[in-house]
Amino acid sequence: QSVLELIGNTPLIKLQNITKSIPGAFYAKVEAFNPGHSAKDRIALYIIEQAEREGILQPGATIVETTSGNTGFSLAMVSIIKGYKCIVAVTSKSSPDKIDMLRSMGAKVYVCPCDVAADDERSYYSVAKRLHQENPGSVYINQYFNELNSAAHYHSTGPEIWEQTNGTITHLIACSGTGGTISGTAKYLKEQAEKSGTTVRILGVDAYGSVLKKYHETKEFDTNEIYPYRIEGLGKNLIPSATNFDVIDSFTKVTDEESAYSAREIATQEGLFVGYTSGAVMQAIKQLAEAGEFDENSRVVAIFPDHGSRYMSKVFSDQWMTEQGFTANPSDQSIEYI
Ligand code: PMP
Repeated sequence: QSVLELIGNTPLIKLQNITKSIPGAFYAKVEAFNPGHSAKDRIALYIIEQAEREGILQPGATIVETTSGNTGFSLAMVSIIKGYKCIVAVTSKSSPDKIDMLRSMGAKVYVCPCDVAADDERSYYSVAKRLHQENPGSVYINQYFNELNSAAHYHSTGPEIWEQTNGTITHLIACSGTGGTISGTAKYLKEQAEKSGTTVRILGVDAYGSVLKKYHETKEFDTNEIYPYRIEGLGKNLIPSATNFDVIDSFTKVTDEESAYSAREIATQEGLFVGYTSGAVMQAIKQLAEAGEFDENSRVVAIFPDHGSRYMSKVFSDQWMTEQGFTANPSDQSIEYI
């Protein structure tokens, strides 16, 4: 009846080449197959429909959110079908393509500086809160602090992966931004594994420049860990309450540069055109393999959160890579100008 019925039930695809030298079997949950091309379709639909059920969201109301782009796009898509207005506050780190896409989907976009503290009045958190207050009857999705974010994955991504692997999954590896994807999926998988007498290791992926890994290991919020980095949607400069740190067994940090090369490798070795954080997950798999995490019996599910087309002016642009100083591994795509 509408595009919303295509949300979820994304395929689990066996990696053929990129993990050849690593023991175990590796599968990608390719979230780009959602109609809005990312895992965020799931939370957009789930949170909006929950608000409708609770009578919080009235017809024609406004939906407000902070987002690196994907959540905004998904919210804009759901808003169109359901007749809501959509306002999003993004950081200046978001790619121009993502901002143009939000506008194309009818959202009103506010671009906020990325290098200010979360409590600064110009931060995308503060701007979203202000817009929420200025629009009576609006709903602030607040994905970093909304328990419905992980609930969406508990009710969809988790059951899908359990079913698609026939309960044989041994490891889940996923990026943590809001933490909704990894926390909700992990909770479901751990519950099912316990019931069937097996175990699932939950491996989070974090960025250098983010506080999540250290917080997980020490419960200390260390501001010394915070510095700017390039990957969008991964890691954080605050502790999101949407993250359930108890269900995550370990975090692996990855660099901007290696994640970028890994994203390109997924495209050229697997024929899967996925985004920057999918590269980050792939990079973490390589590092964890080096550290001896996997053996012949491992059945590993990696979540690839979004589509490569969102990064044409970043990871998939040779010019951008050069500007970042990422020159160790020049593009193997050749162009001849006649
Ligand atoms: N990858 C991308 C591209 C994202 O936009 C996000 C969301 N911030 C994530 C990964 C992480 O997902 P989550 O917020 O559920 O932890």
